[in-house]
Amino acid sequence: MDSDEQKVDLIVVGAGLAGLSCAYEAARSGLSVLLLERGDHPGAKNVSGGRIYIEPVRDLMPAKFWQDAPLERPVTSESLVLMGPSSSVTLVFSSESMRADPPSSYTILRSRFDRWFGEQVEASGAFVVPQAVATGLLRDGDRIAGVRAGEEDLEADVVVAADGALSFLAREAGLAPGLAPAGHALGIKEVIALDPGRIEDRLALAPGQGAARLFLGDLTRSMVGGGFLYSNRDSISLGLVVSLEDLGGRPDDADGSHALLDAFKERPEIRPLVEGGETVEYSAHLIPELPVGGLPSRVTDNLLVVGDAAGLVIYHGITVRGMDLAMASGVLAARACVKAREAGDFSASALSKYDRMLAESFVMRDVERHAAAPGFLARRRLYETYPREICDLLEDLFRVGPDGKERLYPAAWKRVRRTFLSMEGLKDLWAARKL
Ligand SMILES: Cc1cc2nc3c(=O)[nH]c(=O)nc-3n(C[C@H](O)[C@H](O)[C@H](O)COP(=O)(O)OP(=O)(O)OC[C@H]3O[C@@H](n4cnc5c(N)ncnc54)[C@H](O)[C@@H]3O)c2cc1C
Repeated sequence: MDSDEQKVDLIVVGAGLAGLSCAYEAARSGLSVLLLERGDHPGAKNVSGGRIYIEPVRDLMPAKFWQDAPLERPVTSESLVLMGPSSSVTLVFSSESMRADPPSSYTILRSRFDRWFGEQVEASGAFVVPQAVATGLLRDGDRIAGVRAGEEDLEADVVVAADGALSFLAREAGLAPGLAPAGHALGIKEVIALDPGRIEDRLALAPGQGAARLFLGDLTRSMVGGGFLYSNRDSISLGLVVSLEDLGGRPDDADGSHALLDAFKERPEIRPLVEGGETVEYSAHLIPELPVGGLPSRVTDNLLVVGDAAGLVIYHGITVRGMDLAMASGVLAARACVKAREAGDFSASALSKYDRMLAESFVMRDVERHAAAPGFLARRRLYETYPREICDLLEDLFRVGPDGKERLYPAAWKRVRRTFLSMEGLKDLWAARKL
């Protein structure tokens, strides 16, 4: 960018789903938009499990967008795998509605999806600048007047901070607290290339269909978190999400998190699914898991915060849902900017239309409805006791030893009483009512 480049209506920092959606909507509505991305291209630095729930955001994008988007596979089979140290129980769910057309959720690979989305953003008239790192906010007196990108001053009426979980822009604007391990989880993931036919055989899928498997129990070694496996067109995404606090607050603790993923891959429930595949991508990324009351403010004069930067993630321990929230918050921020421009007023009061639209949308409704989930999921028995006990119960039921088999009921009742009807078990059940 030349430093004498003219002022634009909007500078969006970060070409993840939040920033791309914001830039796309704003440019399609006639605003001049500059989208800065520090990676080599949109998608280069973005990580998701990833399964995107389309229903909440379908109508925010043109129909053609979803028709053309490089979605991987519709999720038609859903499994929960409870893992003990040497056994597991798998619950598989599939339904007519999951096979309906159009499907309600898809697996995606961000490196493909975001890159394609970046092209749509450019085609809509926005200027997408890769390898551009915003290094600070540009101020005119107290007013935010744009961003600094290295040596360059880039001016805009509004800056949208879409710079992800560690948003320094939100912190520099005084909207977000400092970083703390308690507010984050670490996600690590491998993409393992495999022939589509093998994926379908191994996961019992019809051609073109997709699977989502979630794992809970021994794999996280008593830490809060879980594992995931998603089938893509020609690869499998396999990963773990673990509380950063439990990992000792060290996102770079390669031994800790990599060893967990390696051990997970070696489990007999996983090894045959990925055998013969080639790891083509490895990534690690922080995930915000802030309590609703601790979310950053999202609006100030001349600046809005969207997506992960605003902590808009629903964290359920085993599942993370942030992509649809990122897209919706980006689009709503753009709409607020369009209104602000019409009024020629970029004050917090004018831009707070964004907050109002967010509050009326599924985004804040869902964030608030699931506010109790992180507290409930911090209960360690969910990871160390219940999966193991359920596996042992089934072992009691199915196994016939050299001395024959005990009666079923006494053994089962003993375990149920000890685990689920104990004081701790009843407390967990009572806490679950808030979910
Ligand atoms: C392991 C894992 C699994 C997940 N699984 C799922 C899932 O299955 N489903 C789901 O819905 N969600 C999932 N999520 C959450 C989801 O990925 C995020 O909520 C979503 O990607 C947030 O999008 P975003 O655009 O806000 O942030 P990001 O995608 O993080 O984008 C931020 C962008 O800002 C750029 N950037 C940062 N700083 C600067 C700077 N100074 N200058 C320029 N550019 C900058 C970054 O390079 C990046 O491209 C998962 C997350 C992880 C880590």
